[in-house]
Amino acid sequence: MPITACDQNANKLPKQIGFYVITSTATKLPGLKPGLKSLTRYNKTTDWQKKLTPEQYFVTREKGTEEPFSGIYLNHFEMGMYHCVCCDVPLFSSEAKYDSGTGWPAFKEAHGTWERDESHASIVRRPDNSLGSAGTEVLCKNCDAHLGHVFEDGPDPTGQRFCINSAALKFKPRENGVADTEEQK
Ligand SMILES: [Zn+2]
Repeated sequence: MPITACDQNANKLPKQIGFYVITSTATKLPGLKPGLKSLTRYNKTTDWQKKLTPEQYFVTREKGTEEPFSGIYLNHFEMGMYHCVCCDVPLFSSEAKYDSGTGWPAFKEAHGTWERDESHASIVRRPDNSLGSAGTEVLCKNCDAHLGHVFEDGPDPTGQRFCINSAALKFKPRENGVADTEEQK
């Protein structure tokens, strides 16, 4: 008798569980899925203050600007890739870097830009009026870090000047062959 009772329960239970699981997944997924990645990896509980230096935190998470001519990458022209200091995605290649004379590292375009299409780049632009006139803020697409601003007075052929804080970047030098395979990932 006890064995039969157990078997009956065992038969009933999975059916019920299965029914409820399927229903709740179906109703929850469409709402949760789009925000899931950023919510789990880089939400407000990410302790950026522990992960970053005070200056890096001020620039990337509080939209600060480092002092002109103070950044470590201003006069840095080694071959390699500038990554996001917060989340490590590649943002700007050394090939696009130039000396704008303004006191901050400048780039002609973001890494992954194809002609003027930035859909595969790791940056996003956002209108920013805090500069007094209408400007465009540049952020990391992956973690929302503030990087700097982009202006339309850059050199040919792009005409773009990405004015980026050194404190938002982490440079990785290119070693023969190694960096090339990394970039293709
Ligand atoms: Zn990032």
